[in-house]
Amino acid sequence: MTYICIDQNIPPVMKLIDGKAVAEEIKSLTKIELYDFTKSNNRTPTLAAILVGDNPASKAYVNNKVRTCKEIGFNSLLVKLPADISEEDLLAEVEKLNNNDDVDGFIVQLPLPKHIDEIKVTLAIDHKKDVDGFHPINFGRMAQGLPCYLPATPYGITMLLERYNIETAGKHVVVVGRSNIVGTPISILLSRKTKLGDATVTLAHSRTKNLSDITLQADILIAAIGIPGFITEDMVKEDAVVIDVGINRVENPDNPETNKLVGDVDFENVKGKCSYITPVPGGVGPMTVMGLIMNTLKAAKKEIYPS
Ligand code: NAP
Repeated sequence: MTYICIDQNIPPVMKLIDGKAVAEEIKSLTKIELYDFTKSNNRTPTLAAILVGDNPASKAYVNNKVRTCKEIGFNSLLVKLPADISEEDLLAEVEKLNNNDDVDGFIVQLPLPKHIDEIKVTLAIDHKKDVDGFHPINFGRMAQGLPCYLPATPYGITMLLERYNIETAGKHVVVVGRSNIVGTPISILLSRKTKLGDATVTLAHSRTKNLSDITLQADILIAAIGIPGFITEDMVKEDAVVIDVGINRVENPDNPETNKLVGDVDFENVKGKCSYITPVPGGVGPMTVMGLIMNTLKAAKKEIYPS
């Protein structure tokens, strides 16, 4: 007779969701698709980016996008504009890209300087070239389950969940943060009647009362807040899946060499409690760039908007 000892107190084995590795896999597949596209169309897709001012984080994000484009074999066009550019002149630059047939898709890196109305700029982008998926036409189509450019970060998160076979149907997803670019769209996507949806979603924000009571119910907890280490161990259910979207620079003026990027989750203390967790850096960040690249390829192929 064989006895099997099952110790109920053994902690779950935490698995790291390696966004960097998944992004590399997608890059390889995209290179093949790109090769086929270029061969049959005799042209290479082009992603353009408008960068206003010299915010170091924005510069780093844009440079990363341009570098990834080059690595895969896309053309990229970086339009650098001064921080004091007028709203009118910025809108004129947007219009130029709207009308440039060589540009398949483009982004305007946010945030913009305070004197510029971000909504006005987002609305000025031709929705057929809006590969960030921020234009209300794409957002509305996403909400109704119609073909659209998905916002890059939520797109990246869904690719990670899919790659790790993380079931969402019937699960309670708690999203903390309701921005237009992360929290709100991911909550819509995961609650829709689709393969990567069918979850019951709670969207929490700064006015939410008893936040811990809610996060403790999450089978999948998504943090998109912008506060380093905000989600602590006591807010996470045993065995939960934790997706950390936050990218926060923690600076040490006495020793800048120790400056680092951290997420919205207290990774070191939370990791032992969950079944899966994304690290920062190397989790959602690389997948956001891939979301953008995939949207650009769709734009070049006219997959979403055929004419
Ligand atoms: P955001 O626009 O600043 O929104 C932050 C959200 O967090 C808001 O909805 C806010 O609530 C909520 N919040 C703030 N304090 C809270 C609190 N004490 N309790 C509960 N909710 C609170 O931020 P975002 O653009 O979504 O970005 C969030 C984080 O993700 C940032 O660190 C950003 O750098 C990072 N990010 C990463 C990627 C990536 O590729 N990994 C992409 C985009 C953003 P209210 O609505 O009530 O103000």
